[in-house]
Amino acid sequence: MNPLFNHAIEVIETIEQAGYQAYIVGGAVRDYLLKRSVNDIDLATSAKPAQIQALFESVIPVGIEHGTVLVRYKGYSFEVTTFRTESGYSDYRHPDHVAFVNRIEDDLARRDFTCNAIAMTKQLAIIDPYRGLDALAKGYLRAVGNPSERFIEDPLRMLRAFRFVSQLQFTIEPETKLAIHHNIKLIERVAIERITVELNKLFKGPNYQLAVQYSSQATLFNYLPIFKEDNSYTDLLVKLKSSLPKLIFVFVYLVDQMNREITLKQWAKAFHLTNKDVNEGETVLQAVLLYRKVKLSNWLVYQLPEKLDQVFCLLLLAIETIVVEVSELQLRRQLLPINNRSELSLNGSDLIKLYPDRSKGKWLSNYLAEIEYLVVEGTITNNYQEIKEWILTCHPPEKS
Ligand code: ATP
Ligand code: MG
Repeated sequence: MNPLFNHAIEVIETIEQAGYQAYIVGGAVRDYLLKRSVNDIDLATSAKPAQIQALFESVIPVGIEHGTVLVRYKGYSFEVTTFRTESGYSDYRHPDHVAFVNRIEDDLARRDFTCNAIAMTKQLAIIDPYRGLDALAKGYLRAVGNPSERFIEDPLRMLRAFRFVSQLQFTIEPETKLAIHHNIKLIERVAIERITVELNKLFKGPNYQLAVQYSSQATLFNYLPIFKEDNSYTDLLVKLKSSLPKLIFVFVYLVDQMNREITLKQWAKAFHLTNKDVNEGETVLQAVLLYRKVKLSNWLVYQLPEKLDQVFCLLLLAIETIVVEVSELQLRRQLLPINNRSELSLNGSDLIKLYPDRSKGKWLSNYLAEIEYLVVEGTITNNYQEIKEWILTCHPPEKS
């Protein structure tokens, strides 16, 4: 068994030995039963946060006011949350009131979908008061309890339904779907950071096309920033031909298709993405534009960081329906004459010596950029003498 599970079981044993109950809950149980890979395990317990803190050496109080602590155990981390119910989401970020309860069944009742409301004991026995196993077997999402009430309580759950459609390749059960159609407008009230987390997962999933189709049928995009200003964005999403690992790359696709009517920075600001995301987005956008002009060139590969190879290929597929293999980029990268400017055989101080009458200035970096481009493209070789001859011919020194 996955060592993560073995360690979770040891954590449960420690909690049980102290006289409390503890179960594996949420996505870990769902993914284990679906035979999907499990990367983190959440536990629910009857113990209060302070009691958990007393049992383990390293406990980080990540959300103690909601009953959640992070237990660090033998190099693994487990989110341990006291059985609770929650009520009121007046800021649409956090529940107003959290009440600790004694029974796991009451904790499971607050969860969004029946397939996420299953608990598992350390012997892997299942506790399933809301028929989550049936939902898993048949592949559908059903809200726990009354769907409309649950969506009014926390409208983000509607978007979570779509991201699970994408991730799990599930459908949405009719009553739950109808409740989404009735309440979708409420998504406007949800904090944008929470929306972004779910959208990131939605566009990454294998069934993003069905998820986008459901979202569009429910008019979700009429209530999201920028999308609501122009239906063309939604029409383009429906046509997207590849899943993408991060939301910023979906925006790259939209910016490109809409002729840069709205910039990546504007999208990123509206959805609270980081500057790092924007920079990565800009880099692949430039690579796509260059590809359109000159196909795969040395210069394109040189400027594209290796970690963006995969997403560049996915975007070409999404935008141009063009298949470029990552291996092709890797091979080209290996054959590049240089990997960065510092590998040039002629550097800034050499240039200063070649032009003794000039003071330092913009000309230096312009010349270096020219040399760099020509060496990368193979027009001149990375050889001191050859570069020197080329530069002196193209830019003869002023006669003194
Ligand atoms: P993933 O594998 O993507 O992390 P997950 O099901 O673990 O999927 P999380 O967002 O990590 O999703 O939430 C963990 C669990 O907490 C869920 O399975 C669900 O039981 C519950 N949960 C999370 N968000 C909500 C919510 N907004 N309303 C109700 N229950 C929720
Ligand atoms: Mg999770």
